[in-house]
Formats: sequence, structure tokens, C-alpha cells
Amino acid sequence: MRKTSLISLCRKKNQNTAGPRQHRFSLTAELGASSLLLIVVLIALNAWHIWHTYQQALERSQSSTLNLTQALSQHASDTFMQAETTLEELAGQISRFGLGQDQLLRLHQVFQEKTRSLPQINAISVFDAQGKILVTATDRLPENQDFADRDYFRFHRDHPELTPHIGKVITSRLSGKLILPISRRLNHPDGSFAGVLLESVMLNHFRNFYTKFVITDDSTLMLLLNNGTVLYRQPYDEKTIGTSIADTALFKEDINQNVSGLVTRSINNNRQWNLYSYRHLKNFPVIVTTGLSLDQSLVDWRKDAISHVIMTMIFVGMITLVSLLLMRQVRARMQAEIELIHAQQELRKLNRSLEKLARSDGLTGLYNRRHFDLSLAYEFKRSLQLQQTMGIILLDVDYFKQFNDIYGHVAGDECLKLIGKTLLNLPVRQRDLVARYGGEEFIVLLPATDEAGTRAVAERIYQEIQALHILHRGSPTGILTLSIGVFVGQPVAEQDTPSKLIVKADAALYQAKRQGRNQICMA
Ligand code: GH3
Ligand code: MG
Ligand code: MG
Repeated sequence: MRKTSLISLCRKKNQNTAGPRQHRFSLTAELGASSLLLIVVLIALNAWHIWHTYQQALERSQSSTLNLTQALSQHASDTFMQAETTLEELAGQISRFGLGQDQLLRLHQVFQEKTRSLPQINAISVFDAQGKILVTATDRLPENQDFADRDYFRFHRDHPELTPHIGKVITSRLSGKLILPISRRLNHPDGSFAGVLLESVMLNHFRNFYTKFVITDDSTLMLLLNNGTVLYRQPYDEKTIGTSIADTALFKEDINQNVSGLVTRSINNNRQWNLYSYRHLKNFPVIVTTGLSLDQSLVDWRKDAISHVIMTMIFVGMITLVSLLLMRQVRARMQAEIELIHAQQELRKLNRSLEKLARSDGLTGLYNRRHFDLSLAYEFKRSLQLQQTMGIILLDVDYFKQFNDIYGHVAGDECLKLIGKTLLNLPVRQRDLVARYGGEEFIVLLPATDEAGTRAVAERIYQEIQALHILHRGSPTGILTLSIGVFVGQPVAEQDTPSKLIVKADAALYQAKRQGRNQICMA
């Protein structure tokens, strides 16, 4: 029973020391894990926000590009449609009335009316089968009246189709301005080539419209012939008019392959990305493209993303800092707790040894009188309750005063120590108690022990001390002996007290002394 409780006490001690350390570890781990989770959630939320706003910015940019393309293609369609209608109407009149002198005068008036009502038209002219200009909207014919070298003239001369033809941008010989020639072949009644009817649209017509859209320098709006020749380009640069983009990847892989589309292409060796939208006009060999700079479209998104990243980093830094501070505090507190527990343990140990000291005799190591009195009071009560007999053996060294006188006090002390050691090694039961009662007197308490048992213990003590054979010249026996008084009995309630039992044992001891010492007397 006692062993088990000692083990459990030890366990509790161990738990006490390991506890705070484990607690500290789990607390700091929990704190670390929570902070990490918070940081991960924060980063994930911000990453999602940045990705989501990127998608939104991209969608906005795509719809802007598509809307622009839609507006440009509508404008181009309207312009070419109007030109086609005018050409068809005039070609019809020419085929009906011919190109006689009267007719040319009338056509001159009609052309003038048309150019007045349609400001985008630079000129409307008719050329004969040799390329000589017959009539135009201006009052005066140019000095060089031969237009046979013009592309549009050669095209119609060599192609029998009567559909309108849109040519490359050229400089007008009438006005000196850049124009977009839209022409149609004229036939004689027998189907042979009779000449060309030309309506030239001023390039400024497109420029005026395209400049209405505010775009950045790295964005482009283009009007192209379907062979890739640039009719107009915004931002405007005259040098680019008439050039070709036919050999670009954008044209070869996208524009030339599909009727319309939306594609992201890099320019400047991947340094810059543009979002292109393009569309082939339904009834004309013309393409409209819009290329908006992705960099510019994403400027606001980038600013927002950067501020989010910075804010996130600041929050992450703050969380980390606070967590580290908290963890340090927790560690410090736990350390203090551990130290406190250690101090408590030390104190407990100290208390135990103090307690032991308070109960034991300094010279012999046996229990002292104080402890004996407490134990006797307790065992006395138990004997009363359980109605058990108990034995008390009181021992006194014979002629010890002489021993001190003869051998000195130090030898006397050594002798008492030896007697104490002998008594300490007595094979007694757990509840039995051996104590130094005072001076050279010792006492043995044997709870729940009958007379025979008590006598046996007394005799054993007597013999063991004799067997020590401590020389004592002052004793008649020549060796150190004991006188022993024994009391055995069952305490009587309201009659006996612990001290009365001692008095009885002491009386027996007194009798042993009186009868010559070196003997055991029963009370
Ligand atoms: P008796 O046979 O009648 O018991 O004679 P005695 O001399 O033993 O008895 P007494 O009571 O007259 O003397 C006891 C002596 O024990 C007195 C004291 O000097 C000695 N004594 C008591 N305590 C100690 C101790 O701690 N150390 C030493 N060396 N001597 C002690
Ligand atoms: Mg004495
Ligand atoms: Mg004595």
C-alpha cells in the first residue's frame, strides 16, 4: 500500500515537471499554427482578389476592344456602302446616257452636287479607255490628264468585273491630299472596256473619325485591305499608310485565317502585349483591327494589385511579429511557471527533511521523544478502539554516568550511536516504533502485540546489546548492559492515558534497576 502510494507520488512529481513544458509546447505550437493559418487565409484571399480583378480588367479590356472594332467596322461599312451606292447610281446614268459632250457637262454638275453633299468625297471622276480624264467634280481639269498609270485604272482595264474596287491610298493629283480610291469599271454596250468611274474618299474622313477615340501610343486602330495593306492607322503616321502587315504573325495566323477574332499578341519581343480584335467587313475586302495595350488596360488593376500585395505583406508582418511576441511571452511565462514548480518541489523536499529532522534524534538517527509521544497517542487511541493489547519496552543503560566518566563523553556518544544502530536494525513490524526517549534511555512501542511478543522483542534487544560486548570497567559485569522495563496490556477507556502506560513501564524499569540492573522486568 505504502509502496504504491510512493510510486504514484513520484508519478505526480514527474507530471508536474513535464506538464508545463508540454503545455508550453502545445500552446506555442497552437499559436504558431493559428498565425500560419491566418497568414495562409490572408494570402489566399488576396491572391483570389488579385486574380478576380485581373479577370475583370481583362474582360473590360476585351469588351472595349470588341466595341471599338464594332464601331470602326460600322463606320467603314457605311463609308464604302455609300461610295458603292454613288458609283452604281452614276455608272447607271453613264450607261444609259453615254459620255457625249452634253452628258459630260451634266455629269460635271451631278459630281459637284455629290461632292458638296458628301464632304468625305475628294473627287468623282470618269476616265476613258486610255486613262484620260473626261470629267471630274472640280471646275478645271488637271494639266496631266493621263491617269492610265494609276493602279485602279490598270486593275479595271485588266479585270472584267463591274464590282467596286478599293485601291491603295494615293495622293490626289487634283487636290494633293491623301485619298482612298473606290472605282468601278465602265463598259461599252458590247462589254468592252470603256473606262473607269472613280470616287476618291479623303483619308481625313477616317482620321477625323479615328481620332475621336482616345487610345494610348502603344495601342493601334487599323483599316486594312484584305491583303494586309494599311489604308489607315491610328496613331497617325503618314509613313505607315500603304505599308503591309501581311508578313506579321498577327496577320498570317489570325487575321488571314478567321472572319473575326480576339487574340493577345506580343510586340517588341514579348516586352509588350496587345489585345487585338479584328473583323473582315462583310461586303468589302477590308479589315478593321483594334489593338489595345494590355499594359495600359491593366494599369489600374496593377496599382490595385500592388497596394493589395503591400497591405498583405504589412498584415503578414504584423501577424508574424505579434505571434512571435506572444510566443516569447508564453515561453517566458511557462519558464517562470516551471521555475516556480521547481522551487515548490525544492521547498517540499526541504519541508520533508525538516519534518524528518523534527521527528528524529540527531545523535542516533532514531525517532525522538516528540515523535514517539505523537505515535503513542495515536496507537493508544487505536488500541482503545480495536481493544488490542500493546507493548512498551523502556530501556536504560546501566552505569552510564560512570561510562562517561571513565571513557569520556565522545566515547559515550559513540556508545549511544551503536545502541541506536542496533535498535534501528531490529526486525520489527511496520507499525512498531523505536525511539530515543532521553539521555541514555530508549523506548520501543509495539502496537497490537501481546505479552509473549513484547517479551520476545525485549529479550532480543537485551541479547543483542550484550552481544555487542562493549567494555565497561565501571559495571560489575565488565561490559555495557541494559535494564529493561516492560509494560503489556490493553488500555482501559477513561482510566488509562498514554503517560500512565509509560509510568507503568518506567515502574518496571525502576524495579529492574533496584533488583540489580542488567535484567528485564515486566510491569
Ligand atoms: P543507572 O545505572 O542508575 O542508570 O546509572 P546511570 O549512571 O546510567 O544513571 P544516571 O541517570 O545517573 O546517569 C545518566 C548519565 O547519562 C548522565 C549523563 O552524563 C549521561 N548521558 C545522558 N545523555 C548523554 C549523551 O547524550 N551522551 C553522553 N555521552 N552521555 C549522556
Ligand atoms: Mg537514566
Ligand atoms: Mg542509566
